[in-house]
Amino acid sequence: MSRRGLRFSKTTCPICGSKEVARDDHKGDLLCTNCGHIIVRTESKAVGKFDIAQHIKRNGKMNFPNLKEVTGASDDKLYGVLRSMEEMGLLIEMGGLWSLTKKGNRWYRQRQGQEWGY
Ligand SMILES: [Zn+2]
Repeated sequence: MSRRGLRFSKTTCPICGSKEVARDDHKGDLLCTNCGHIIVRTESKAVGKFDIAQHIKRNGKMNFPNLKEVTGASDDKLYGVLRSMEEMGLLIEMGGLWSLTKKGNRWYRQRQGQEWGY
């Protein structure tokens, strides 16, 4: 199999723990180049700002692979939402770790109030 069209993703293989997991850009599946396990991406799930804020709130600072894991979003979608939240001043990224800003915390509490119907 040609390795053309494959690029390494930031995912860890759930079977062998190898970090050498490549993404097939055609199918969108992730392939572990160590053990051959295929992590099928059924769909690249959309991710909401509130979801991201909630996970960061729960876990504290989170890096990109963690966020990807908890949200199940594709790299591109997750990255796009993180960037837009950063532009809105809700998130800040330092040393590869994302955390909520003060504004982000306020925004989150407001949104949470709406979710719960206060
Ligand atoms: Zn593996």
